[in-house]
Amino acid sequence: MAGRSIDGKAVAAGVRAHVAAAVKTLPEQPALAVVLVGDDPASQVYVTSKGKMTKEAGMRSIEIRLPADTSEADLLVQVQALSRDPAVDGILVQLPLPKHISEPKILAAIDPLKDVDGLTEASAGKLMLGKPGLRPCTPVGCVILAKTERPDLSGADVVVIGRSILVGKPAALLFLEQNATVTLAHSKTRDLRMVCRGADILVAAVGRPEMVRGDWIRPGAIVIDVGTNRVPAPEKGEGKTKLVGDVNFAEATEVAAAVTPSPGGVGPMTIACLLRNTVLAACARRGWTIPDTLQA
Ligand code: NAP
Repeated sequence: MAGRSIDGKAVAAGVRAHVAAAVKTLPEQPALAVVLVGDDPASQVYVTSKGKMTKEAGMRSIEIRLPADTSEADLLVQVQALSRDPAVDGILVQLPLPKHISEPKILAAIDPLKDVDGLTEASAGKLMLGKPGLRPCTPVGCVILAKTERPDLSGADVVVIGRSILVGKPAALLFLEQNATVTLAHSKTRDLRMVCRGADILVAAVGRPEMVRGDWIRPGAIVIDVGTNRVPAPEKGEGKTKLVGDVNFAEATEVAAAVTPSPGGVGPMTIACLLRNTVLAACARRGWTIPDTLQA
């Protein structure tokens, strides 16, 4: 029997509706600042989309677009100014930055209370210590999507493939926070296929097109595909490309209970969780009570 496709767009729309409802109850409009350096087409699309959805949720959007040859010192000045600005609640620096700029140095300039991407050392430390704080958006999206299929993750065997700072590592910690039993797999993991077959919930965050095949998946498992890979699509015409995930979706749906498609799964959740984090950051910094619709 074919498994379900988890509709990330619909779940994300639900999260954004909760955010919009929460914003209406706040004394002031929260503001999210997004900083983009350079003209990478994918990043341009993300930033435009973030701005549009920020406004749709009733918040103020500040977009700072800087040329690719912006110096590290100049970018640092911009981020420090946003960190000091009392009217700014969240700061997101779109990654990757041009090669001549140190990402850790720029991230370190973000006020941890405004770190809506959850990528600063302070946020990572709080996650590690199990203290309240702003959590990284994509991994939070993975947990929310898994919970649409299995609301209680306690005792679930979760395998996360990929140990990046951005996705894999925080995803593993967030599933652990949910009392799952977590295995964090990576390029040196032995017999990855068999490791994956042990998973009730399999999260793929690798960056390798359709690497996870149907026979890697335990029958009835939930599969969360974080991967977004652009591959040639000659069937669409010469030189055309398409996006695929890290999971072979057609094979996975033959075996799994539910699978997120890519695109249309984890991707939309990332922006929704960013908006949610902006409201949470505003509440924490300004001493507002977190609106009911956003309580965990
Ligand atoms: P990354 O930094 O390149 O990390 C990839 C991870 O996969 C590494 O830990 C690497 O292991 C592991 N890996 C690579 N080849 C492997 C193999 N053959 N077997 C097992 N593990 C392997 O990538 P990332 O930033 O985490 O992103 C992963 C994917 O998610 C990409 O497709 C990216 O585009 C996508 N993504 C999507 C969103 C979204 O919003 N939907 C957000 C972020 C990322 P080692 O550590 O051992 O090298």
